[in-house]
Amino acid sequence: VIEIKNIRKDFGNRTVLKDINFNVHEGEVVSIIGSSGSGKSTLLRCINLLETPTSGQILIHGKDVLNGDVPLVELREKVGMVFQQFNLFNNLSVLDNCVIGQMKVLKRTRQEAEKVAKKFLGKVGMSRFINAKPNQISGGQKQRVAIARALSMEPEVLLFDEPTSALDPEMVGEVLKVMKDLAKSGLTMIVVTHEMDFAHDVSSRVVFMDQGIILEDDKPEIIFEKPKHNRTKEFLFRML
Ligand code: ATP
Ligand code: MG
Repeated sequence: VIEIKNIRKDFGNRTVLKDINFNVHEGEVVSIIGSSGSGKSTLLRCINLLETPTSGQILIHGKDVLNGDVPLVELREKVGMVFQQFNLFNNLSVLDNCVIGQMKVLKRTRQEAEKVAKKFLGKVGMSRFINAKPNQISGGQKQRVAIARALSMEPEVLLFDEPTSALDPEMVGEVLKVMKDLAKSGLTMIVVTHEMDFAHDVSSRVVFMDQGIILEDDKPEIIFEKPKHNRTKEFLFRML
């Protein structure tokens, strides 16, 4: 689905991503792990053009995203994103949070959009809360709504940037459970995470980033049990 070729990203005179190459196939769950500052978020943000790469190519179904072959709206339709801080609209109900993007971007009627939103709010176990405002629900519930909102756009790929890092520990499990179910359902996912159990148990592949490069990209059992690089070993030693 996605091919990333020689992506480089500079902020001023700092190079944050250096020659990043990787592919994500349909139905894969790719976990991206690595130390703080290694460029994980920047890479995700480049994939849906929240940041513009300095050079390189990003192809979606073989179409180049950077040279305008894929209009930005179409890209945002195909590639959804779930953020650490949820980014819900606090003045809108749970249901409306999941409806508004569908109406604006996909031009669905309110009726259609509500039907889709309710389906996905049900999937994440939030049916009882459709009329609540974000400030009336817990962090774990907010993140589940954010996931339902992203799913309501029926993306081909869903990106997650540390979706459980802002949560109280007792709420991490409920969000990971939803993500596991999505992975099982065959959704293509790229997940930046510090949850090593998720990376190990759920991913089809794990990418280890270090100082702006991909140091290793392999099956979870290789990354966790037989990492090739000392930097990977050191990172995992700190995390496990
Ligand atoms: P973390 O685990 O802390 O989220 P990360 O791997 O996601 O880290 P990034 O957020 O991608 O790391 O940041 C990589 C580097 O790029 C950092 O040194 C950061 O300071 C720098 N950086 C990120 N965004 C910007 C920006 N908009 N302007 C300047 N520098 C930036
Ligand atoms: Mg980050």
